[in-house]
Amino acid sequence: MGLEKLTVRQLIELDACTRCGLCIEWCSNCLEIGEPVAWPREKIKSLRSLVRGGSGIRARLRGPSTPNEEALASLSKAVYDCTLCARCAEVCPVGIDTRSLWLVTREEMVDRGCYPEPFDTLREMVTTNHNISGDNNDERLIWSENLEEVPDSVRGKEQAEIVYFVGCTPSFYPQTYGIPQAAVAVMERAGLDFTTLGSDEWCCGYPLMIAGMGDAISELVQHNVKAVRAKGAQRLVAGCPSCYDTWIHEYPRIIGEPLGFEVLHMSQLLEELLDEGRLRLGEFPRPVTYHDPCDLGRNGGIYEAPRNVIRSIPGVSFTEMEENRRYALCCGGGGDVAMCNQELVEAVARRRLQQAQATGAQVLVSACQQCKRTLMTAARQEKVRIRAMDLVELVAAAMEE
Ligand code: SF4
Ligand code: SF4
Repeated sequence: MGLEKLTVRQLIELDACTRCGLCIEWCSNCLEIGEPVAWPREKIKSLRSLVRGGSGIRARLRGPSTPNEEALASLSKAVYDCTLCARCAEVCPVGIDTRSLWLVTREEMVDRGCYPEPFDTLREMVTTNHNISGDNNDERLIWSENLEEVPDSVRGKEQAEIVYFVGCTPSFYPQTYGIPQAAVAVMERAGLDFTTLGSDEWCCGYPLMIAGMGDAISELVQHNVKAVRAKGAQRLVAGCPSCYDTWIHEYPRIIGEPLGFEVLHMSQLLEELLDEGRLRLGEFPRPVTYHDPCDLGRNGGIYEAPRNVIRSIPGVSFTEMEENRRYALCCGGGGDVAMCNQELVEAVARRRLQQAQATGAQVLVSACQQCKRTLMTAARQEKVRIRAMDLVELVAAAMEE
């Protein structure tokens, strides 16, 4: 493996691991995967060997060594079985940014052609159909078809102050159609000047980026930025934490300049609307708990906005799960793991569901369509009477006529 893929910090981090094993105790997936090869500590060791074999002193004297195929396949399996939740980074006492190491390892696996086959299909669908489902992108607004009335804002205005970036999952997967439907109801009620991009919304590129295929997303990024700028928008509101993360952290880097508009997650917009008194909420007298999406919490640093929104709803009785905020367990649905290891996703989701059940909540709120989908599937499979809802759906349910 060439050194050029790694930053100086990452090279130092490979040697900084003290092998204390704290990351193993906190890994969202390690309890489910018995094999040490999947442990964060062991992945660092394998990555270090790969780097030393390709560029270490011995490699410089004797030429780079060819990595053992079996070891390469194990590392590939381990790194694609990782939800990229970043709990390991949160607890690492020497501050190793493990998640960025997993991403660079995935890139290396793609370069070596050693990655799960379904990712080729994903790349094909995203780069040609511009969404993760492979549907015709002209059907991006299919979720709006059973709205009583489809407002102009949904059909797409020429110009608007806010662009609502819906995301691929709620656009094409019926389990989550309720999220954009609720978002539209809330923004309409608050009197916001907003629009969607309709079929001009392309996948944000996140699924390919985390697959290690980041070099395939430039066209998507350029297109989306141009489409938002054409609306004259001052703000982009992302319903999906992964879209939000990509817009905030990757887009300015890829286009090489500031976006020229503000990027918010829907939870921040909701908090603002409630603070300004632009939404009147009625009673929602149910016990509720909140699941922190990894890309919103650990990766985006947004912990309080969703909690403030929940607490603003009259009648809600809110209880935290045992593991919350920085230490929240992943729902299991991150890291594209569902593409190659659905069993693992379900096992992690079951554990998170048990934590939610322990609070006595009837409603499990998240602020991510993927978390909602994963947790509601787990609840159905386990026959647990708990309702998974997105934050914006909760607000829409509490909105007074
Ligand atoms: S917690 Fe950090 S230092 Fe300890 S084993 Fe894991 S990566 Fe290494
Ligand atoms: S990112 Fe999450 S799943 Fe991956 S190794 Fe770290 S704790 Fe485990």
